Amino acid sequence: MNNIDFQTCIEEILNETRGLIGKGRVADYIPALAEVDPNQVGIAVQTLDGQTFQAGDALVPFSIQSISKVFVFSMVFRAWGDRLWSRMGREPSGNSFNSLVQLEHENGIPRNPFINAGALVSTDCLLSISKNPLKDILSYVRGLAGNSKISYDSVVANSERETGYRNAALVNFMKSFGNIENDVEAVLNAYFHQCGLMMSCVDLARAFSFLANGGINPLNGEQILTQSQAKRVNAMMQTCGLYNESGEFAFCTGLPGKSGVGGGIVAVVPKMFSICVWSPELNRHGNSLVGMKALELFTTRTGISIF
Ligand code: GLN
Repeated sequence: MNNIDFQTCIEEILNETRGLIGKGRVADYIPALAEVDPNQVGIAVQTLDGQTFQAGDALVPFSIQSISKVFVFSMVFRAWGDRLWSRMGREPSGNSFNSLVQLEHENGIPRNPFINAGALVSTDCLLSISKNPLKDILSYVRGLAGNSKISYDSVVANSERETGYRNAALVNFMKSFGNIENDVEAVLNAYFHQCGLMMSCVDLARAFSFLANGGINPLNGEQILTQSQAKRVNAMMQTCGLYNESGEFAFCTGLPGKSGVGGGIVAVVPKMFSICVWSPELNRHGNSLVGMKALELFTTRTGISIF
């Protein structure tokens, strides 16, 4: 790893992929997200030996959206352990992130934690064990990223609430199958806030370091998950982290990763580093156009992937 010049590599990739801006579309089904300036690109790499490499808008906080699914899942995985698997599966869905179609056939049990239905169940599990879930999520991500300034964007959260008919449908539908324990409104409120967390590429690359490090936060040595649990989260990111484009992402990058409709994608190279790319314009699957390409170029040029 020492002989790879990460700084030059990410700067070159950023300049090359910037040309894709204009070919995608900023998420517009959440009105507050539609207002984000699309001409932004950031890349950050956080190595396990404590180095941070950054290029472009790597310090600009953005709406992490579905990337939050990994944080809340990790919180409840630690607390609930394997009991979680009676509430959700771990198979790719092959459907869009907000799809309802499988839930009826599968008795209200979501395919995996990284689609909306699964994430809503994770959030419900958190509500069952936390008196103040929003405070707990915030202190968890602040601790992981080593940044006490991380906060929620309540404008985004409220905008999602006002237009979140599908998420409301998903959570009500699962409640009808007995797979939601808490009040539907409380689950939705926590879910919309976690999606509205504002973090930068540097924050996210740091916050995912524990997944590159066998479950231990390299910033302070704290055990976040067991090594086995960290392996499982990475495995699910590999197979389910980019919704119905998870196969394409694995094919292009050879890395476990998680995307969000805010335009961020975080990927993990176990035992080495984590990397985050952000650019708000999305492809038709809801994944960052620049992010997909930049990560493909990164693993191809450096020759670093898990395969
Ligand atoms: N808040 C978004 C939603 O629930 C998250 C989706 C995403 O990032 N894919 O629709």
